[in-house]
Amino acid sequence: MKKNVLAFSRVTPATVERLQQDFNVIVPDARQGDIAAQFNEALPEAHGLIGVGRKLGRDQLEGAGKLEVVSSISVGYDNYDLAYFNERGIALTNTPDVLTESTADLAFSLVMGSARRVAELDAWTKAGNWQATIAPGHFGSDVHGKTLGIVGLGNIGAAIARRGRFGFNMPVVYSGNSRKPQLEQELGAQFRSLDQLLAEADFVVIVVPLSEATRKLISTRELQLMKPSAFLINIARGPVVDEAALVEALRSGTIRGAGLDVYEKEPLRESPLFQLPNALTLPHIGSATAETRAAMASRAVDNLRAALLGERPQDLVNPQVWK
Ligand code: NAP
Repeated sequence: MKKNVLAFSRVTPATVERLQQDFNVIVPDARQGDIAAQFNEALPEAHGLIGVGRKLGRDQLEGAGKLEVVSSISVGYDNYDLAYFNERGIALTNTPDVLTESTADLAFSLVMGSARRVAELDAWTKAGNWQATIAPGHFGSDVHGKTLGIVGLGNIGAAIARRGRFGFNMPVVYSGNSRKPQLEQELGAQFRSLDQLLAEADFVVIVVPLSEATRKLISTRELQLMKPSAFLINIARGPVVDEAALVEALRSGTIRGAGLDVYEKEPLRESPLFQLPNALTLPHIGSATAETRAAMASRAVDNLRAALLGERPQDLVNPQVWK
């Protein structure tokens, strides 16, 4: 008998079609009524879940007695209560690698966009303000040759560092859990403590996973260590940065600007950040290109399919549950 797969966020028709070859696939549909009710109704019979952007732990999964695997269409997995998954023996998979380059592109567009005030001056131009050569009050900051500080030199951090080092001739410093000798050699990257990095970098790019160790990693003290001319770029997860402290730092000139893709609470519908011209705010689009989202969905299907057919999935986050 075919196993049941339940989607917990919107999935593409191609994803559904591939899964239907081996499984019964249930995709809650707003046109059929309440999405949450459809999800809850299907959950007890589900062997596999696929999707992104939903908190899943004891409260949500207690009734999912047949659940074997959750296939997340993301690389970050802070939405899932891993301890509970391990207790239940539920496998968790994610989609690393396939989004690395697109997310690094987006991080770099935040570096460029905040330094050269791209969105701010686009709005200014379209508002009909351009009447003469612009004055120094609208000048930006250089990117090339400036020091790039990467907090978390993992897959995406390294891809951002390559863009900076080889595209923009930027010296690279990094901080994190461990030294990366190979990347030090490739990029000439130098290891620093977080405090040293904050004091030295012109662009501080946050690319660590969200965990209890990284929650509010950047708060008032850390922002005060940064140069007043420096920019903070966060493409990791919102809660890694204390947002109220960041707003204050942007308002008071403690730092020059920020480029943000992620927030403490998403979607961000209203925020003091919206009043700050030196905050560039994007709606969590690190991996949001057509090509990359398709590749992520395909990788998530591969993982789910493997797990439900009894093969060890390629991207198993909690290998200890795999028997
Ligand atoms: P990764 O390859 O696992 O790299 C994570 C890096 O963070 C590693 O270098 C790791 O150091 C470091 N790190 C982990 N815990 C740390 C801590 N407590 N203090 C300092 N450094 C720490 O992951 P990735 O693929 O680059 O992705 C990184 C994160 O980016 C994801 O977890 C996700 O939350 C976020 N992301 C966001 C978007 C978006 O749309 N904005 C898209 C993709 C990913 P070690 O290697 O020494 O352990």
